[in-house]
Amino acid sequence: MKSPMKRTAFLSRSDRATEKAMRVPRGLITTLQRWYEIHGRALPWRGERDPYRVWLREIMLQQTTVTAVVPYLERFLQAFPTVESLAAAEEIAVLRLWEGLGYYSRARNLHRAARQLMTEHAGTFPADAEGLEALPGIGRYTAGAIASFAFEQPAAIVEANTLRLHARLLGYTGDPRSKDGQQQLWSWAAQLVEAATPKFGPGAINQALMDVGATVCTPMNPHCSECPLKRWCAAFAAGKQAEIPLPPVRAVITEVTDATVAIHHRGRYLLRQRAPNERWAGLWDFPRFTVDDPSSLPLILTKGVCDQTGLTIDLGDEIATLKHSVTRYRITLRCFTATVHSGRLRVEDTLRWVPASEFAAYPLSVTGRKFAERLREGLLK
Ligand code: SF4
Repeated sequence: MKSPMKRTAFLSRSDRATEKAMRVPRGLITTLQRWYEIHGRALPWRGERDPYRVWLREIMLQQTTVTAVVPYLERFLQAFPTVESLAAAEEIAVLRLWEGLGYYSRARNLHRAARQLMTEHAGTFPADAEGLEALPGIGRYTAGAIASFAFEQPAAIVEANTLRLHARLLGYTGDPRSKDGQQQLWSWAAQLVEAATPKFGPGAINQALMDVGATVCTPMNPHCSECPLKRWCAAFAAGKQAEIPLPPVRAVITEVTDATVAIHHRGRYLLRQRAPNERWAGLWDFPRFTVDDPSSLPLILTKGVCDQTGLTIDLGDEIATLKHSVTRYRITLRCFTATVHSGRLRVEDTLRWVPASEFAAYPLSVTGRKFAERLREGLLK
């Protein structure tokens, strides 16, 4: 059994010896190429070389499945076909198209990066990973993906699928997310793209590795008997596929109760843009507050609204309870209506009276949108 990588992981040794042990075995790249030509995933963007399109899809694919990304990518490219058009857009339009994908800082960073590309690079992308990483929201993985897919630079990538694949190939029994684990996996991934050939370039190598990780070297019950790389796999040789990689430490889920209020006044509702330091920063929402003590809920809402907007309200009915999860929080959202009792709305760009017929123009949180729909339905009845 040829597995020059397995010594790397099971024995401790100097970096130099590690590098030597991690040299790409003869035959691995050609075997991978043959497998990719027949079994590579038929992704809608396979072979795409336009850096703008590669960038958009790679940012969207973070924390999101291919199936969920496809319609968003189509809509986004239709609205903003070029870096120039994205840079010229209002942030509200960018966030509206992103609505539902979550992790909204990705959309805000895309927008900022597009503007930076226009002002500092005349609308063109740097071709190297270092230049790409200088742009907002572009980390090591995305920079490697753009550099290799769009510019055929020998830039490595390690994402969820390849992290698992490489950890198993190397038989890495430590935490692959630790400093040492990252160093070893990225260094091995770099050796693989360095072994590119004129017919099997860095972009194709990276895509092939991701495809093996996604379709063969699956998290549970990897299909080792069908794996093109099994003869070089240390985990397979040691029968440790189920133990490698070490799973991430599970986040403790915290239950949270929020309350939100739709304040109705002269045919319109009050929307508020969420502040930069808040969850869903930049999105619009009905005034929303965290409820530490449910028995004080009416006070929390009335005082919160007064502090935030300058209005005092007459609290109405609770018309819905919505559940949603965000990272490690499971949130129960209690939804109320209210009317204005007195006071004047503070003059701020982040507070607007909006008729229900115009809710669609505003990017809302997922639960904000559900609440808005309930209000619209209630009005239509
Ligand atoms: Fe993954 Fe099995 Fe292939 Fe090893 S042999 S890379 S564990 S699918």
